[in-house]
Amino acid sequence: MSTINPLKPSERMKIPRQEPLEQDAAARSVNFLEVSFGFDMDRTVTEAQRCLDCKTPYCVDGCPVGIDIPGFIKLVIDKDYVGAVRKIREANYLPAICGRVCPQETQCEELCVMGKKLTPVAIGKMERFVADYEMREKLFTPPVIRDHREEKVAVVGSGPAGLTCAAELAQKGYKVTVFEALHAVGGVLRYGIPEFRLPKEILDIETERIKALGVEILTNFVVGRTATIDEFFDEWGFSAIFLATGAGTPTFMGIPGESLSGVYSANEFLTRVNLMGAYRFPDYDTPIRIGRQVAVIGGGNTAMDAVRTAKRLGAEEAYLIYRRSRAEMPARQEEIHHAEQEGIKLLLLTNPTRIIADDQNWVAGIECQKMELGEPDESGRRRPVAVKGSEFVLPVQTIVEAIGQKPNPIIQSTTPGLSTSKRGTVVTDDGQKTSRPGIFAGGDLARGGATVILAMRDGKNAAAAIHTYLTDRRSSTTDHA
Ligand SMILES: Cc1cc2nc3c(=O)[nH]c(=O)nc-3n(C[C@H](O)[C@H](O)[C@H](O)COP(=O)(O)OP(=O)(O)OC[C@H]3O[C@@H](n4cnc5c(N)ncnc54)[C@H](O)[C@@H]3O)c2cc1C
Ligand code: SF4
Repeated sequence: MSTINPLKPSERMKIPRQEPLEQDAAARSVNFLEVSFGFDMDRTVTEAQRCLDCKTPYCVDGCPVGIDIPGFIKLVIDKDYVGAVRKIREANYLPAICGRVCPQETQCEELCVMGKKLTPVAIGKMERFVADYEMREKLFTPPVIRDHREEKVAVVGSGPAGLTCAAELAQKGYKVTVFEALHAVGGVLRYGIPEFRLPKEILDIETERIKALGVEILTNFVVGRTATIDEFFDEWGFSAIFLATGAGTPTFMGIPGESLSGVYSANEFLTRVNLMGAYRFPDYDTPIRIGRQVAVIGGGNTAMDAVRTAKRLGAEEAYLIYRRSRAEMPARQEEIHHAEQEGIKLLLLTNPTRIIADDQNWVAGIECQKMELGEPDESGRRRPVAVKGSEFVLPVQTIVEAIGQKPNPIIQSTTPGLSTSKRGTVVTDDGQKTSRPGIFAGGDLARGGATVILAMRDGKNAAAAIHTYLTDRRSSTTDHA
């Protein structure tokens, strides 16, 4: 039973927002250890006391998976940290991950009433603290599963969408198998987001908790090659399938020089480092070439991760080239701030026009032109327009393009009747249903590149839709028996 916050609202409003502990910027720009240490216990409880426990908690409207935010904060005030993380887990099975990588500033915290005149309650940092506390003290116990269903469900892809769907279905009593093409679980959480933002150990622990629900995970299994979706239905005995294969195919700018040695897509660059251990070459087999000067093109989280990784791998100058202004950058504010602290140079309103080679066909530089903002485009952001005669050459030896990704077409091309969009995404309705009965899809595969929590929301929606589909199918079979 939760107590009531002993402080009056006027007293709560006087408490300043707590700041997280962080690794020193100079030290961390040459190591892969986690940048933010988050809140300690005192900061967490103090921050919890700032919450006004609103009658209409707008913060919950801002959370894509609908966590009972004031409910978990009240448990924090009671110092019942395990109760708090269990409350979060009722809606979100990956709290230690979301507490680290969710863009709370544009979700729950953006709608927090404290933010109207003061600063919003630091919901994400409290989420991280209670999840880490439960891990550190080894106090996790899996939820009891009361129902057991005969139907088998296949989940394709082990990113946040797939893992969430699997966890939800397992708790409803289904037999769930997750198929993953790579040798390790987690999707972008493993091969994209670097260790200094999301330690692999955290992902491993969260994954073990999903396995503890009885979920089977098969790695090195490329669906569409090792087995097709129709074989899953006809030969493997699956009754429903959730497709969550993400958007892992890079797109390129299409400028001259992209085939030179020393040009990477962000996907390849980050996969080499995060998944294949290239930062420990030659102890690991996979090499990576980092020039003295590195340019990363793009303004999102992927670009930010790539440029901060390049700095840690020894680049003396690490540039981020982005064609719009800072206000339009899609990356999280916290990540931009951290990058600048680490010495990353932001070249804003700058657009690459060609890549320049040395006599060995390696990258020697990048030609760019300055931009200015014109009228808004179809995205609602002001369109960057080239400034005539503003071209200049930046000497760089490595270039990483992080300008967007699209889904790999392997499943779509081997599954007849599955509708796809022009962008290569799988078309679904609001309940994640595809054009084929029994096949559901979500996450980046259905959205194009999005966020971890939106992928998780799709995973939850799909689990609910699969449950309804299989329950209806079961009752219609019984009715006709
Ligand atoms: C570098 C980077 C940083 C990011 N940072 C953030 C962040 O800070 N915060 C945030 O909210 N979002 C961030 N994002 C976006 C976020 O990670 C994605 O939106 C999210 O991971 C999508 O989840 P998903 O489950 O749909 O797909 P993914 O995470 O892409 O997982 C898909 C999985 O399916 C597997 N797969 C693909 N094809 C097959 C097949 N045929 N058979 C079997 N398995 C297959 C893949 O190997 C992969 O493991 C970032 C993205 C990148 C690239
Ligand atoms: S909106 Fe802010 S103050 Fe109100 S309940 Fe949510 S976190 Fe607390």
